[in-house]
Amino acid sequence: MSNRTIELTDELYDYLLQVSLREPELLERLRQETASHPLAVMQISPEQGQFMALLTHLLGARRTLEVGVFTGYSALSVALALPPEGRIIACDISEEYTSVAQRYWQEAGVIGKIDLRLGPAINTLDALIHEGQAATFDMAFIDADKQSYDAYYERALLLVRCGGLIVIDNVLWGGKVVDATDTDQEVVSIRELNVKLREDPRIHLSMLPLSDGLTLAVRR
Ligand code: SAM
Ligand code: CA
Repeated sequence: MSNRTIELTDELYDYLLQVSLREPELLERLRQETASHPLAVMQISPEQGQFMALLTHLLGARRTLEVGVFTGYSALSVALALPPEGRIIACDISEEYTSVAQRYWQEAGVIGKIDLRLGPAINTLDALIHEGQAATFDMAFIDADKQSYDAYYERALLLVRCGGLIVIDNVLWGGKVVDATDTDQEVVSIRELNVKLREDPRIHLSMLPLSDGLTLAVRR
């Protein structure tokens, strides 16, 4: 026993999945199809998908944002947890990746819940703000290009309501955030955002060592 976060051995990780993962068949199939993609590591883990579904239920979310769709696993996890009238505005630049996503959303019967916006996410988020949709979203998931994380965070903070949740993925970036000699753009961007959030009075904050590190920021 310890009062710090437990180290997750392969055996313990398998156990965690065994006793808690309730992955719907379609999500499992999507994960299997994505596994053969050269960029398969971009997909969130199944336990993270289940956690995001739980957050969706917890918030009673109806309107959510997603920045970074890829083959659609996280969006499908959230869409399945939303009520029938729930909606996701999902941003990506890749028609190729999101064509896989759309196939699964269609089969799951949630395609009507997901409004896919193809184009640079900053433009999509700015357009939403200019259309007067600030403070109307319950949750935002940030998981696109890491260099733009701060820009996505600032826009998401405008777009979620008070008490709304911003979920930021890969905040530990494979452990690279602690290596000060690593000045790669993606690492620097994530590191700077992590430091900024620590002092940001606009949010309640928690960083979880789930998957590749997941920050939860609730707008005050
Ligand atoms: N959330 C996804 C999942 O559950 O599988 C993984 C998202 S993947 C890590 C990042 C995605 O961001 C890619 O699909 C990529 O095309 C997209 N992306 C990269 N730059 C972008 C940009 N400027 N605007 C919108 N999407 C972008
Ligand atoms: Ca990710």
